[in-house]
Amino acid sequence: ESRDAAALVAASLHAAAAAIDEAADELGRMDAIAGDGDHGIGMQRGSRAGSDAAAAAARAGAGARTTLVRAADAWSDRAGGTSGAIWGEMLRALGEQLGDDREVTASLVSDGVLAAKDAVMSFGKAEVGDKTMIDAIVPFADDLAQRVAGGQRLRDAWGHSAGVAEEAAQETASMAATLGRARSHGDRSIGTPDPGAVSFALICTTIYDVLTA
Ligand code: ADP
Ligand code: MG
Ligand code: MG
Repeated sequence: ESRDAAALVAASLHAAAAAIDEAADELGRMDAIAGDGDHGIGMQRGSRAGSDAAAAAARAGAGARTTLVRAADAWSDRAGGTSGAIWGEMLRALGEQLGDDREVTASLVSDGVLAAKDAVMSFGKAEVGDKTMIDAIVPFADDLAQRVAGGQRLRDAWGHSAGVAEEAAQETASMAATLGRARSHGDRSIGTPDPGAVSFALICTTIYDVLTA
């Protein structure tokens, strides 16, 4: 059971890295409008390193927690930047919740996603409405928790929640950025979605494809 979960983590990160490769130029262009333009390359480096680390851990027989923690360390080390540190925090929090030997149920996964959301918010201090990936993470995590608590199967719930994240990411286009490097050019970002929210939603959608494969 735990080995199956580790293999699913590795497959998800592998698919995420491939999707990010395809989107990298677009993510970089989005980040260049009000930030420093490195979101595509940072996500490429991070997701590839995370995927490689997860594959190695899963191959060696590690459980879900160890696989996710190794991926978290590799991702934040190699990506650099704010989003790399945040993805490291998210994967680590999810891993701590899943554990190495627990049976991975839908409610354990949705608790893990809530823990990842909390980790990002305490790490980055952003709130909903600041035009960051938080604006996609919060509706995703809350929708998933609600559906799983209501008895939906994980992959059905995840598919719906990924759609919520995609919509929420696009809705950040109308917001002005208030945090980090984007602050001084806040108004310039209006009309363009937050790149970190867009890449988060893309990864959620990609994982749904893995869950239904
Ligand atoms: P950097 O800003 O260091 O160049 P990236 O370009 O890779 O890093 O990531 C930028 C993304 O990070 C933003 O689009 C936003 O979604 C996210 N982000 C920035 N600051 C925060 C924060 N305090 N909390 C949550 N997310 C943040
Ligand atoms: Mg950047
Ligand atoms: Mg940067």
